[in-house]
Parts: sequence; C-alpha cells; structure tokens
Amino acid sequence: MDIEPRDYDCPNDILRNRIILITGASDGIGRALALEAARLGAQVILHGRNVAKLEKVYDAIEALGSAPRPSIVVMDLATADSGAYQSLADSLAAEFGRLDGLVLNAGILGDRFSIEQYDPSQWQQVMHVNVTSAFVLTQLCLPLLQQSEDASVIFTSSGVGRQGRAFWGAYAVSKFATEGLSQVLADEHRHSSLRVNCVNPGATRTDMRLAAYPAEDRDELKRPEDILPAYVYLLGPDSKGVTGESFDAQ
Ligand code: NAP
Repeated sequence: MDIEPRDYDCPNDILRNRIILITGASDGIGRALALEAARLGAQVILHGRNVAKLEKVYDAIEALGSAPRPSIVVMDLATADSGAYQSLADSLAAEFGRLDGLVLNAGILGDRFSIEQYDPSQWQQVMHVNVTSAFVLTQLCLPLLQQSEDASVIFTSSGVGRQGRAFWGAYAVSKFATEGLSQVLADEHRHSSLRVNCVNPGATRTDMRLAAYPAEDRDELKRPEDILPAYVYLLGPDSKGVTGESFDAQ
C-alpha cells in the first residue's frame, strides 16, 4: 500500500455523492467524523440515542453551508429490539436505497474492574452495545451496502482489543470481538467490492477517554478532529481493494 491511512491528505469533495451512516455521531469521534465527512461532500446519516445532541451536530453541518443536508436516526443500542433495527433498515432502504459507508463507532467503556470482580450484567451490556449491536446493524445494512459500487465498512477497535490489559474487562474483550467480526466479514466479501476494516483511534480527547483516565492532562491528547484522515481514506475511493486490515488512526 502506497498511502499510510493516518497521513492521508484528504482532498476536498473526496466523499461527494457518498451516503454514510455513522453510529454514535452525537459526540466525540463520531461527531467529528460526521462533520468532516459532510464537509468533504458526503450525505451523512447521524445515528445516536440523544435527539438534542444529534440536532446540534445537524445544525453544525448545516452551518458549514455547502454540505449535503444530513439525516438523523435515533436508536438506543442498549435497549433497541429486533423490530427497531428492522424498521431502521427499512427506513434507510426507503429513503436512500443504498449505503456507501457504514462506520460502527458507538461504544461504551463499562466498568474498570478485574475479571474476578466484573459484574456479569455489566459485561453483557458492554458486549451488547459494542459488539452485538454492530453485528445486527451491519447484517441489516448489507443489502444496502451491496447496492453501492464501492462500499466501505469501518469497525472501531482499540489498543486493548489487540493486546489484553488488566482491568479493561468487557471493553477490551468487546474490541477483540470487533476485530474478529471485521476480519470474518472482510473474508466473506473478499471477492466483492465491499471493503471492511478496523480503525483503532488511539488516545483521543473525548468523554470516554476522560472516564478511563480522569487524572490525565487532556491538553496532551489529540482532539477527535485530529485523527480523521484514516477514516476518510477508508471511506473514500482511494482505499478501493483495501480490506481485512486493522489501522491505527494515530
Ligand atoms: P464518546 O465521546 O463517549 O462517544 C460515544 C458515542 O457513542 C456517543 O455518540 C454516544 O452517544 C454513543 N453511544 C454510546 N452508547 C450508546 C447507545 N446505547 N446507543 C446509541 N449510541 C450510543 O466516545 P469516543 O471516545 O468518541 O469513542 C468512539 C469510539 O472510539 C468507541 O467505539 C470507542 O470505544 C473507540 N475508542 C476511543 C478511544 C479514545 O481515546 N477516545 C480510544 C480507542 C477507541 P451519547 O452522546 O448519547 O452518549
């Protein structure tokens, strides 16, 4: 590969005419990516669970002036039942007819306890939001992704999803599972135009990072808007044929 994704110099309009669904677009990295994708010409579908926060992102995209008008889809990944997922997929099919990008970004940290002390119901919730919901949403979106000539799926990993670390519990295990889900899906589609990859954002100045490292100096961390080139590269045409990989955004 000639291009290093994290150093990708995002050309203006590179995402023009692409329809991209981003989960967890109400805050943090998802919010920053939604704004950047819209700035680069994508029609962005903003997913989250908090309407007021999503509307602020919508307004920020509208304020860019030239970006395509985004859409909002509201669904709590912790509580949605199969009917809610199906009606989301049905409404995406009816409104858009295809998806060119799907970014599975939403996630929760959960408790930071040892395995010995980890609460099983908390474990289930973290695995559900971080892995199972991404699986179900991806499965339901596959027909729409296959309507695109050049679709890209991005799963969100973490350093603790590649090397286990004490007290990272279900979060770390969910990120290992995410890497696995990404690899399996990529392999299943290796003869198609659909590409599937993982991105590890690295330490980034968001609420989740603050919850994990409350004593850390936030000013030392990259901001969400600083780590986006790898995502844009994978969503845009320059990454055609790149699949089954796991990248570091920093
Ligand atoms: P964040 O600021 O906490 O944002 C998480 C996003 O996920 C928010 O939009 C949040 O919605 C949404 N979300 C959480 N639970 C949800 C649910 N049940 N239903 C719907 N939406 C839900 O976190 P972030 O740091 O940007 O993290 C984004 C991704 O990067 C995550 O997958 C995380 O594991 C990964 N990551 C982050 C770092 C880092 O240093 N920040 C490092 C490695 C990996 P609300 O706004 O409603 O809360």
